Amino acid sequence: MSKKITIAIDGHSSTGKSTAAKQLAVKLKYVYVDTGAMYRAVSLYALRENLIVSGNLDSKKLVASLSKIKISFAYNKETDSADVYLNGENIEKQIRTLEVSSIVSKVAEISEVRAKLVEQQQAMGEEKGIVMDGRDIGSVVFPDAELKVFMTAAPEVRAQRRYKELVERGDDVSLDDVLKNVVERDRIDSSREDSPLVQLPEAKLLDTSKMTREEQFDLLVTWAEEAIEKA
Ligand code: C5P
Repeated sequence: MSKKITIAIDGHSSTGKSTAAKQLAVKLKYVYVDTGAMYRAVSLYALRENLIVSGNLDSKKLVASLSKIKISFAYNKETDSADVYLNGENIEKQIRTLEVSSIVSKVAEISEVRAKLVEQQQAMGEEKGIVMDGRDIGSVVFPDAELKVFMTAAPEVRAQRRYKELVERGDDVSLDDVLKNVVERDRIDSSREDSPLVQLPEAKLLDTSKMTREEQFDLLVTWAEEAIEKA
């Protein structure tokens, strides 16, 4: 049997990381973890507890509440992937709104939030055989990952894809607002002090601007097979 490795997929917002990472995990029979969903879960908690007033986050109160936030994943056979749960409630749909997207990068700047989630992510990857996507997976969560990938695409292409997804699920959003959100999240994620999004020199670059999902997937599988071979 081939050796199990750790695969870290980082990159800009709405580049198709989750879709590609999920498909790759199914192909390799690995566990897939969407770490963005964990930051989104904390953000949903903050929204529900009214810790965000006129766009301003009460980070002190959120940090004080962290022990009350339990995030878990459970397999959903309809989608063949794991759904995220907040204190036992399936919140997979609720975390994908533009409202959550508009505050998540502020929540993700808080070091105490990051420390809590990174600890849980590292525990989930202890046994290897994992594909994890996010912003700091190759740099902070698994710096020794055998395969690191950095995904990007032109902002307009990413906004268009995310807009289509939101409209298809019935959300009333404008393309312009989605584009603004994508650009603003990238800005905050790349410039924050704690664990900023960086393109590591050892990461393989996957620019999906002009690639189909099949092409992205094929390239990822090739890279994964090479990395497994070398491990
Ligand atoms: O991946 P997704 O777009 O769902 O992530 C939502 C947000 O969560 C990102 O814009 C970023 O602010 C934060 N995040 C992070 N570190 C990760 C994953 C996500 O800071 N590992």
